[in-house]
Amino acid sequence: MGRLRISGPCAMARKAGLCSYFPYSGTPGKDVPVTVVKDLFSLQQLDLAIDRRMKRLAQIKAALKEDAVLAGARKDQAASQAASKDLQSKQKTLELDLATAKSRYATVEMRMMSNEGVTARELPAMERELAHVKQQQKSLEEQGVVLLETLQKTHAQAQAHAAKVQELEQAWRESQRDLLAEQAALQAELTPSRAEREGQAAGVQAVTMQAYERLRIKKAGVAVARVEKGICTGCRISLPTMLIQQARAGKALATCPTCGRIMFAE
Ligand SMILES: [Zn+2]
Repeated sequence: MGRLRISGPCAMARKAGLCSYFPYSGTPGKDVPVTVVKDLFSLQQLDLAIDRRMKRLAQIKAALKEDAVLAGARKDQAASQAASKDLQSKQKTLELDLATAKSRYATVEMRMMSNEGVTARELPAMERELAHVKQQQKSLEEQGVVLLETLQKTHAQAQAHAAKVQELEQAWRESQRDLLAEQAALQAELTPSRAEREGQAAGVQAVTMQAYERLRIKKAGVAVARVEKGICTGCRISLPTMLIQQARAGKALATCPTCGRIMFAE
């Protein structure tokens, strides 16, 4: 830690009373206590590692509830099973109707053949009935063929749906197990990570910590940007050489004129 001067655009803005990142109550232009940028950068590395774990934990939490695909597959399975059952029921009814028609045909035919108690007047009506029953039988048989084809297709579909559900359930159980293990590991890592972070933060001046925290909120978690090859890695914009030299010298807390992040140059 050292006593560093604020310089660069932020210092100018501070003089004008505009800088919200690094508030302090001292005299403008005078030395103010700030933490060495390297310390802030290290703190940020720890914060980002915690952020990554928290983000992953949130994803895991959402994924553990997420079984929409499986629910959809179960719905499909239930629908195809119900359709199959309905067709089986229709098939039974059709078989009964067919048996009744066959029986009726045989009865009428037998009466006509035996000629017992059949009057000449009755014969045409009986012939018409035979023709009608024959037609009915043919129609029922045709319906039976179509129904059987549909039933076979539906049955195959129901089997495919059942296999899909089984496959998804297996994958779901495995993914849940993996996710739960990952969740436990991340939670276990968070405790020492937070302790390390608090240790690092304890070495930073309160006023600088507040500024750092505010900047992190505004800059998607990245308050300190490393300077690489003359470019601010926070916004990928080239920096003026003088500003880089100031940042590298470490005598002042320099901020990127484009993105406003604290510059960390080694
Ligand atoms: Zn920048």
